[in-house]
Amino acid sequence: MKTVVVGGNFAGLTTALELKRKLKDQVNVLVIDKSPVFTFIPSLIWVPFKRRDIKDITLDRKKILNKKGIDFLRAEALKIDPDKHVIYTTEGEVSYDQLVIATGPKVDFDVAPGVRQYAYYVGTQDGAMKIRKRLEEFVKNPGPIVVGATQYAGCMGAGYEFLFNIDHWLRKNNIRDRVKLTWITPEPYLGHFGIEGMTGAEAMLKRFLKMLDIDFRTEAAIKEVTPTEVILESGEAIPSVFTMLMPPFIGVDLIKNSPQLEPTSTGYLQVDDTYRHPKYPNIWAAGIAVNVVPPFKPGKVPFGSPKTGFPSDETGKIVAENIARMVRGEQKLKAKKWGDIPAICVLDAGNKEVIILTSADFLFFA
Ligand SMILES: Cc1cc2nc3c(=O)[nH]c(=O)nc-3n(C[C@H](O)[C@H](O)[C@H](O)COP(=O)(O)OP(=O)(O)OC[C@H]3O[C@@H](n4cnc5c(N)ncnc54)[C@H](O)[C@@H]3O)c2cc1C
Repeated sequence: MKTVVVGGNFAGLTTALELKRKLKDQVNVLVIDKSPVFTFIPSLIWVPFKRRDIKDITLDRKKILNKKGIDFLRAEALKIDPDKHVIYTTEGEVSYDQLVIATGPKVDFDVAPGVRQYAYYVGTQDGAMKIRKRLEEFVKNPGPIVVGATQYAGCMGAGYEFLFNIDHWLRKNNIRDRVKLTWITPEPYLGHFGIEGMTGAEAMLKRFLKMLDIDFRTEAAIKEVTPTEVILESGEAIPSVFTMLMPPFIGVDLIKNSPQLEPTSTGYLQVDDTYRHPKYPNIWAAGIAVNVVPPFKPGKVPFGSPKTGFPSDETGKIVAENIARMVRGEQKLKAKKWGDIPAICVLDAGNKEVIILTSADFLFFA
């Protein structure tokens, strides 16, 4: 049986390795990814400040996979024909018996005018290195900074981490007193994080921001970013000569270009609690590619829920287990709602750490 996994980062790599471990020679596994290296994305926030280099947080995919008897194809998957069981890629057609889609997000830089042109983004290797270069100039000629998340964003945690890290970096470079630092967020209150009601989060973040002299705006929607300002829908223009924003995540073009899979309007895949496609039983999704409905009422300014690394890995494991069960002829599949998977995160607050534990029963921030 041939299983193809498209996307070889947290969710895809976990699925492929687990599947091979469970089924050994009963399965041929091929991972397709457009990039040759696995990137430990959470550590990208350290790259601008030279706390890590790209080589420290990347691994050669082919080496890891081949060692475990898994094939790797470096290619971009362009379109899926689920009736023919074929993926069209930049390196030709690939057929499959079982297909796992673990393609993560595409970043929507067009959420507001100027975000694409004038705001920086730390979530890619290229973006993190551009910030590193900009900060080398900034240190010689400091000015006001805005860090934040745009309307519709869901990955606020990385924005908070970047904020505390840049504050720490400004202090280390003895220029903090020359920089007005402002945090903007669509959340109705600090520390909502798209997972409403985490015990202690709002009070602790308020204390941190006050202690570090960081100004903030909640329920902020961005109207426009210019080279010198971030203009909010409220009409307020916040001066900023360096802006780092977390824009919204949407589904990748591969999913949008495969209409038979009936993607959601944001380009994600609607799967059941076994992570199987309802119409195509040999297609599965894992990680950010899965559609997740935010578990809270929409606020005044829209924003989403985070899809973090732990549930991404867990959904990969569930998919591998379910494909293994099918191969063994078992009828019952493992099912677990995304929201029932606990999240365990360590938020880097510059020179402090905050642990975030969440599950369906409790939310904790300490
Ligand atoms: C700056 C930042 C910091 C973060 N910090 C944390 C943290 O501290 N803790 C935490 O839990 N989570 C964190 N996250 C979230 C975490 O990175 C994601 O949950 C995780 O990466 C999701 O894994 P994934 O495999 O679904 O997607 P990804 O890791 O994005 O992987 C998707 C893969 O698919 C490939 N791909 C996409 N489309 C195609 C295509 N058409 N053809 C071929 N390949 C394709 C990509 O190249 C990529 O390798 C952070 C995110 C960001 C941006």
